[in-house]
Amino acid sequence: MDNDHGLLLVLSGPSGVGKGTVCAALREYMPEIIYSVSATTRQPRVNEVDGVNYFFKEQEEFQRMIREDELLEWAEYVGNYYGTPRRFVEEMLATGRDVILEIEVQGAMQVKEKFPEGIFLFLAPPDLEELQSRIVGRGTETEESIRNRMAVARTEIEMMEHYDYVVVNDQISTACEKIKAIVTAEHLKKDRQVHKFMKMLKGV
Ligand code: 5GP
Repeated sequence: MDNDHGLLLVLSGPSGVGKGTVCAALREYMPEIIYSVSATTRQPRVNEVDGVNYFFKEQEEFQRMIREDELLEWAEYVGNYYGTPRRFVEEMLATGRDVILEIEVQGAMQVKEKFPEGIFLFLAPPDLEELQSRIVGRGTETEESIRNRMAVARTEIEMMEHYDYVVVNDQISTACEKIKAIVTAEHLKKDRQVHKFMKMLKGV
């Protein structure tokens, strides 16, 4: 990927850590970033809108998207499928826009294989009790789903070591500030700037 491409940011973290809330706050805090909308076979929650929160798909349609290589990554998570539509992300990056994917860890590892230059951010809970109370407090999950999500959360936290940055979500506003600082620093990396100066030197 050349230096004129945007940054591919991948934000993961266990269920209940507040990825959705942080992403919603980031949309206001960093409106210049493009937020990828995932496809899923999960049923919409109350207030979720097709095409805004997710593209809600039947199993068959999701399988077709996998077969026809329309997904950049996909994963099964607590009985449902989730995946990132590839074309939109690639087009946005090519036009120099930064894109953020809010996805679980298996999918993030697939993205890492395909885009090793991506920036992998792990949103961590301050502690596990806090995590469970957030999943319960959301009021949208059955008891079985809460148990499953907590079990998955533990294995997800173990995946932290594969990420570039860890942002503890103790407060939404500070989590947003930290993410903004990371994006700013990544843009300032020498490798993303040196070609511009070399061109300038050639022109003099
Ligand atoms: P939820 O059902 O709570 O909306 O999402 C469950 C999990 O799926 C979350 O960890 C969320 O980040 C993840 N997820 C959402 N979209 C995608 C996607 O496109 N790909 C992958 N791999 N995970 C996703």
